[in-house]
Amino acid sequence: MPYFDYVLVGSGIAGLYTALQARQFGSVLIVTKGHIQDCNTRHAQGGIAAPIGANDSPALHFRDTIEAGAGLCDEEAVRILTTEAPDRISDLVDYGVPFDTLDGKITLTTEAAHSVPRILHAGGDATGEHIEVTLSNRVRATDIKVLEQYLATDILLEDGIVKGVRVMDCVSGFAEEFECKYLILATGGGGKLFKFNTNSEIATGDGIALAYQAGAQITDMEFLQFHPTCLNMPGVEPFLITEAVRGEGGILRNVEKRRFMLDYTPEAELAPRDVVARSILYEMIKTKSDHVYIDVTHLPRSLTTTRFPHIYRYCLDNGLDITKELVPVAPAAHYMMGGVRVNTWGETNLPGLFATGETACTGVHGANRLASNSMLEVLVFSKRILERTISGKAEKLAVKPADRYTSLRAPKTRINNMPLTLKNLQSLMWDKVGIIRNKEGLTEATSILSDWQKQIIAPVDKATHELNNMVTTGRLMAEAALLREESRGAHFRSDFPATLEKWQHHVIFPSK
Ligand SMILES: Cc1cc2nc3c(=O)[nH]c(=O)nc-3n(C[C@H](O)[C@H](O)[C@H](O)COP(=O)(O)OP(=O)(O)OC[C@H]3O[C@@H](n4cnc5c(N)ncnc54)[C@H](O)[C@@H]3O)c2cc1C
Repeated sequence: MPYFDYVLVGSGIAGLYTALQARQFGSVLIVTKGHIQDCNTRHAQGGIAAPIGANDSPALHFRDTIEAGAGLCDEEAVRILTTEAPDRISDLVDYGVPFDTLDGKITLTTEAAHSVPRILHAGGDATGEHIEVTLSNRVRATDIKVLEQYLATDILLEDGIVKGVRVMDCVSGFAEEFECKYLILATGGGGKLFKFNTNSEIATGDGIALAYQAGAQITDMEFLQFHPTCLNMPGVEPFLITEAVRGEGGILRNVEKRRFMLDYTPEAELAPRDVVARSILYEMIKTKSDHVYIDVTHLPRSLTTTRFPHIYRYCLDNGLDITKELVPVAPAAHYMMGGVRVNTWGETNLPGLFATGETACTGVHGANRLASNSMLEVLVFSKRILERTISGKAEKLAVKPADRYTSLRAPKTRINNMPLTLKNLQSLMWDKVGIIRNKEGLTEATSILSDWQKQIIAPVDKATHELNNMVTTGRLMAEAALLREESRGAHFRSDFPATLEKWQHHVIFPSK
């Protein structure tokens, strides 16, 4: 079996940055199921948060992150995130990421729930693309081996220790195994589980399903962030309208063109994402419409076209001049706060297995992510994975007495006439495990997902592997959401609208 010291699964910011850091310490393989640049990272628009501004500090960034996390952030992880941020930004600058500057200084913008301008961006709203292109070019220029169109299908274990990974060549369908000392999952999120989402095709929750099947702990799966503003034009591919548009003064209007956010919260357009997403949904229900509008027609044209060139161009190509017309938007599934449970060194409960990026749960986001903290989290905790591997130390995952360890339950079987297809799964997740949840819908979802789990057949190709992974990941999400009988952060239960102190803890699978 071919051997590498480090095997990275995924080639978004997490896979690429970790690989570049790891090559100083050993041989590195990246396996990625699409082409190197197929990932969510490439679509990140707003930017990357770091407390480097004159009026900012790690303490202020800490405070904003904790506030957004609604009582469930891991304070130690957030402290690490905010203090190590400036050094990790320097790493990106050293790799050549062209952050936007003015008079030689990096320019910072603001986003919802950040108390000061703190968001670095590149190419206006093309931050993710610049990061992905810069890092992938760097990787290409090294001896890091990259296998594109290779899907990780199983984590290989020997006596409870991770020994490698089984992959499938997506073109030939052949399986292959790689042995390694450290297996690092960097497989991204699971937005594709939902009918309306902002994610790339790759976001099928594979890392969660693989890790869970291998015996790794999974946590916080009920916390899925819905982005308030995704372009909603008939016949046009959904496209994210970044938070920064509201940060720069964009106004939300209902279909009657009336500003409505002040009806819901004094913070108006700059309220946290979950509040804005729910307010939009309520407004859509009230006005019997499938969208609201974001209005930037009052902003200077030059600001819109230079600050948001991607959005401007995408809309214009689809017949909409956003400097003159309102932009139709609706909420969509966006970011997974939960994932493979790791400590502040990226370690899972399985020796040899690490996770980083959106597939991991470090605890920095708690119940709700502060905008633009995710790419920063990748850098800070990936770096720490490397520090841990070279230190030769290992640490068990802490067991907090309040946390609730649980197993998937066997729901009462109901008659399920819905066959397992991607479309049915996405509709079920959107309708029953979406922005506003309740016991009845979640019970139905867990029952159907558990029935689908029983129907799963041996996967034969990439699509069937992904569908199976989505069923497992979806079941974990639905079950965690059903268990949590309160509303907190991004998780909203219409039957339990209050936040309850007795629920200030995490739900962790499995129970062992
Ligand atoms: C539209 C959009 C805008 C965003 N804007 C921002 C922003 O402004 N700021 C911010 O901080 N965050 C933003 N985010 C979130 C952020 O982009 C992601 O959280 C982050 O990029 C995740 O990086 P990652 O490397 O973990 O995952 P990804 O970039 O998604 O990469 C995952 C990789 O894993 C591979 N993979 C998955 N499964 C397998 C498998 N089984 N086998 C092999 N390979 C596999 C994929 O092909 C891909 O290469 C945004 C997200 C979206 C969708």
